[in-house]
Amino acid sequence: MAGIFNKLTGATDMTKTAADTSNLKKKILYEQERIQEVMLEIGKQYYNNPKADLSNLCNDIDDRKRRIANMKNELHSIKGLRVCSNCGTKFDDKYTFEFCGKCGAKLPNED
Ligand SMILES: [Zn+2]
Repeated sequence: MAGIFNKLTGATDMTKTAADTSNLKKKILYEQERIQEVMLEIGKQYYNNPKADLSNLCNDIDDRKRRIANMKNELHSIKGLRVCSNCGTKFDDKYTFEFCGKCGAKLPNED
């Protein structure tokens, strides 16, 4: 079994792409967390003053959503690479198993 996985993960020139991928995913996660925080802030401000001008905060969320969409496009343009979020092993798009061949963790979905 291990032999099959080694063959599938043998490519070495993927390192940079994989770093880009995990970097993008981290940035997307960060933006998503910030959106949650801004959402909370909007709720708080609205509670304190329903007439408060919340457009700046709403625009902030829109900006972040745009950024996330751009980064997701970028992710998709990095050709069919899947990285195990647990151990960092990279798999190319021919690897169709749902679980990491190295540590057995569930692999992330395409998006
Ligand atoms: Zn793994």
